[in-house]
Amino acid sequence: STPRTQYKRVLLKISGEALMGDQGFGLHPPTVQRIAKEVKSVHDMGVEICMVIGGGNVFRGLAGSAQGMERTTADYMGMLATVMNALAVQSALEGLGVFTRVISAIRMDEVAEPYIRRRAVRHLEKKRVCIFAAGTGNPYFTTDTAATLRANEMNCEAIFMGKNGVDGVYDKDPKQHADAKRYDTVSYDDCLAKNLRVMDASAIALARDNSLPLIVFSLDEPGGFRGILAGEGTYTRVQ
Ligand code: UDP
Repeated sequence: STPRTQYKRVLLKISGEALMGDQGFGLHPPTVQRIAKEVKSVHDMGVEICMVIGGGNVFRGLAGSAQGMERTTADYMGMLATVMNALAVQSALEGLGVFTRVISAIRMDEVAEPYIRRRAVRHLEKKRVCIFAAGTGNPYFTTDTAATLRANEMNCEAIFMGKNGVDGVYDKDPKQHADAKRYDTVSYDDCLAKNLRVMDASAIALARDNSLPLIVFSLDEPGGFRGILAGEGTYTRVQ
């Protein structure tokens, strides 16, 4: 039977790296499939789902500019990388019978819908998974900021930050410190003041100013996303 959840509409944020498996770069189709199954199992609970996917598995603006590329050009390349990831996840979800729309912050009408808020809300009401691509459409931002922006615009109840290799927010890096402690809850201000690596600072501030909770959890365990929505498992709530 399908477990119940308190949530009606959520946004799932994953990094581009979540799609690369252990290849270290690009897209790993079985990993994309696995993530799509996680999303489908939450969709099956009746939850309306937005997604924002990073691009770091393909290109990061900062890395490009460190190699001498003009920063805004590099950032546009990063935004285009998120479109490729969005199309890969769309394809995997539709292969599982879940209807989706890729909605791009940069117009490319042959590839994805342009972002029109009311239209996106309608898609959600019709239970289509909305994959928001191309970040915010602006250089100098990240997909974390895009996730917070879209979650606010779509009136999502929370952002679910699906992580690899970590199941929440710790007081120090759990991969380097055996005594690192996971927070059950932590405030936005503590994330900023202690520089806890949840999201970049502008994204956290945007969530804080709109009281949008962040649920940081691990995407490594099959059924993890669904479990968290049903109130099970370990995670950190930033509020
Ligand atoms: N990016 C941008 N504006 C945005 C979102 C993303 O310029 O609104 C660019 C930026 O260069 C970033 C890249 O796209 O490095 C990929 O996004 P991000 O680093 O957030 O991906 P993730 O780390 O989540 O995989």
